[in-house]
Parts: sequence; C-alpha cells; structure tokens
Amino acid sequence: MSAAPKNDPAAVEVEVREKIHLEILKRTGAYHANDHVLLPSGQHTSEYIEKTLVTTEPSFTEGLGAVIAKHFAQWPVDAVLSTGPGALILSHCVARAHPSRPVVIYGTKGLSGGKRRVTLPVEFQRLIREGARVLLIEDLVSTGTTLDLLINLVEQLGAEVVGVGCLWRRTSVELNGKPVFSLVSRDFPTYDPSECPLCKRGIPLNEEFVRRRHLRRPSTAQEPKTP
Ligand SMILES: [Zn+2]
Repeated sequence: MSAAPKNDPAAVEVEVREKIHLEILKRTGAYHANDHVLLPSGQHTSEYIEKTLVTTEPSFTEGLGAVIAKHFAQWPVDAVLSTGPGALILSHCVARAHPSRPVVIYGTKGLSGGKRRVTLPVEFQRLIREGARVLLIEDLVSTGTTLDLLINLVEQLGAEVVGVGCLWRRTSVELNGKPVFSLVSRDFPTYDPSECPLCKRGIPLNEEFVRRRHLRRPSTAQEPKTP
C-alpha cells in the first residue's frame, strides 16, 4: 500500500487507524506480516490472514465492532445480518454498540448445484419486513460473493441495505454501489514462485499454513453408534 500524502490529514488518519487495526489482528494471531508464506494455491506472499482466528479475543472484537457501529450510528438500523460464525460474533458486537439497538439475525451458507447459496431461517423472516433497514456485517471480504447474495436476499424481502461493515476488505472488491466501511482495506500481493522477490532475497519459505492443512485434522467428538 502506498503511503498517504502528508498534506492530507484525513488520509493520514485513515492510515493510522488501519495500522492500529492491523496490530490488533496481529495480536489475535490471525494476521501475519513481513513473512514469506506459501499459499495453498502454490503462490507466495509476505502477508497472511487466518479467518478462523479473527474473532477469538472478545475485547478486541467488541472494540472493532464499536468502531463499525459508530460509523453507521447516523443511520437507523432495524437488523444486523451476517453469515458464518466469525461474522456473526462481530455482528453481535456491532449491534450491541449501535444506537438503534438492532436485532441480530444470520443466514446460513450452502451449495446448490455447485453454486453458492445463502438461506435465511424462516423464524427470522418476520424481522426483515418490507421497508426494514438492514446493516450487513462480514469479517473478511475477498470476492464479495456472499455479500452480493445477502444483498439480493434482503432486497427480495422488500427491505433496504443500509450499508456493509467489515473488518477486512480487499481493495478491489465492489459491492453493487452499497456504502462499504472496512477497518482495513488491503490486498496482498501474491507472487509466482519463479518471480517471487522474497525467494530472490533468500528469505526462508514459511510452509506452516499449507502443511497444517495436510497434517492436522480438526478435532471432533462423535456420538457412539448404537449396536
Ligand atoms: Zn517466494
């Protein structure tokens, strides 16, 4: 990311805030910087974020959620909608800090014929009535597909998307012209191994994130089978 021009106080402030948020994400163990990381795709990068760890520290999540709530405080919000466990934890924190005291609802993600799908449980449908104002919350936005589906879902029900709040957004993502507020807007440069500047500088390659996927399995507990 290029440095903000020194004569623009607003840009400097955004950059300073972004650094603080990155530092918070680093302390959760979710964000790794100044590294030389092998990605599952085979590409190399100097930065990495582990989605699962982003919302593991309640006081950090509450603080970050309050920043998002403050940004959207001037708009009335009836419901905060998200999907996925990390985004749901964050959306609770945003709703708790928003002056409208919105309800918290969530969709479930699934696949239908190889295509992604978001479904709103029937019990929540009365909470998104026609004309309801809905704030969408996401933890990390990479392609924006999930948010596009959530926007469609809300609009199909005759409600209105007030905006989108997220922790992290890849700068290239556009979301149907909806106002997006993200604490960090940043895209990682990724390199083909043959052209990687970190390889050229002889920095050891960190294969931890790829290796862990192969060698470690999630912990599970299962109800015993009845004979
Ligand atoms: Zn490399």
